[in-house]
Amino acid sequence: MGAGCERPDEYPAAVPLSDDFDGFLVDLDGVVWIGREPVPGSPEALAALLAAGKELVFVTNNPGREPAAYAERLAALGVVVGPERILTAGIAVARLAAAAAGEGGPVFVIGAPALKGLVKAEGARVVEVEEAPAAAAVVVSGHRDFDYAELLASKRALDAGAALFATSRDPTLPTPEGEWPGTGAVLAAVETAAGRRAEIAGKPERHLFELALAAIPGAERVAMVGDRLSSDVAGGHAAGLATILVLSGTSGEDGAGSEDLATADPQPDFVLPDLAALLR
Ligand SMILES: [Mg+2]
Repeated sequence: MGAGCERPDEYPAAVPLSDDFDGFLVDLDGVVWIGREPVPGSPEALAALLAAGKELVFVTNNPGREPAAYAERLAALGVVVGPERILTAGIAVARLAAAAAGEGGPVFVIGAPALKGLVKAEGARVVEVEEAPAAAAVVVSGHRDFDYAELLASKRALDAGAALFATSRDPTLPTPEGEWPGTGAVLAAVETAAGRRAEIAGKPERHLFELALAAIPGAERVAMVGDRLSSDVAGGHAAGLATILVLSGTSGEDGAGSEDLATADPQPDFVLPDLAALLR
């Protein structure tokens, strides 16, 4: 597939793009929902893809909820998948950090309670600010309660030699009120203070894609569907997948988003207004 943004002319218009694929890795924020609001048409499109026998795996850099909670939210929208079909950068980063810290090893987590739960579930011991200097690993993910005490604690842990992992470098998170500071903004503070660079577990790096593709071993023609060029499209491309950019979230053509499609490299294989357009 080339760099073009349109489907080749020889495709009959009556054949939806979804017919080209057996499976989809689907981003959540900006694709399925924005904040608490479903993207119009997306839940119905996902239910139709499942009914057509397509393999779906949801891949999100947002570790704010555990997979079972995302599965419940999807089910409430009529999209019924098991929690094993939902892979977050939280799962990927928890595995990396737990492996670095060893069984029962201390890990300092800057992130939401759900992320701390995932790190514990991988066998590590989550330590609070006071114990941070003894941490074997630091995990960073944007959350609303990020503060200077966490920044200081992370610096102390990193200066003492802890390994540094983060869920992503996504600078922002789409919300119904516009873009909010994301993990990349928080991570920049941590990295700047410590003079260290984190290993990224989420998109566009390979860890999350490897977990997602392992969940659908039978699917041969797989596409990544996402709204962010720098994570979904770049990561999908690097993972050898077809990439479908939807304009319902961060990378909108109206310039409201923080990314520029015209100058993006790599370019997405397909550009659609939203997920529902996969079936039109
Ligand atoms: Mg997104």
